[in-house]
Amino acid sequence: MENHLMIIGVLALQGDFAEHMAVLHALNVEVREVRTPEDLAECSHLIIPGGESTVMGKLLTSSGIRPAILKRATEGTLAIFGTCAGAILLAQEILGKNAPEELGLIDMTIDRNAYGTQLQSFHADIVVTDIGTVPVAFIRAPKITRVGKDVEILASCDGNPVLVRQGRFLASTCHPEVRGEAAVHRYFLNM
Ligand code: GLN
Repeated sequence: MENHLMIIGVLALQGDFAEHMAVLHALNVEVREVRTPEDLAECSHLIIPGGESTVMGKLLTSSGIRPAILKRATEGTLAIFGTCAGAILLAQEILGKNAPEELGLIDMTIDRNAYGTQLQSFHADIVVTDIGTVPVAFIRAPKITRVGKDVEILASCDGNPVLVRQGRFLASTCHPEVRGEAAVHRYFLNM
């Protein structure tokens, strides 16, 4: 079987994968852009970036990566961090028009585009359990409207959970990567 020693994959089908790659390069870890199931097979960790979850959901299927992620995730051999569109794909239940087909790995309900349009995008400083203050951006962000009992809320903003974890799966409705911040990525690598 492939070597699963700390190789961090970034799903590079669509969205802001380059920003995640830049943060990971700054952390000096081994990284891969993931476009095929073969790319994924090399990785111990996978980041699903922000972008457009409906499009990314379709590309997950057409690339053949969807079943590969689900297999590794249920075997317990893949840690996954989804940011924004990535968080949407990780949810078990997705609200809003044109919801993508979910991966459904985190017991939560998420409402797409719940803050409004691009104009309602904003920067915020969130306070994360065990990390401290992290500057992030919310870009056409979703809202997590329900979490199951096994989901840990690591940060909230205005009363809404914005960074949550269920076992090896981490999801943020905001983007830590666009402001060059590495703390949440470092946390993910240590999961
Ligand atoms: N609004 C996008 C969606 O629903 C997510 C935006 C983002 O990833 N920044 O997929």
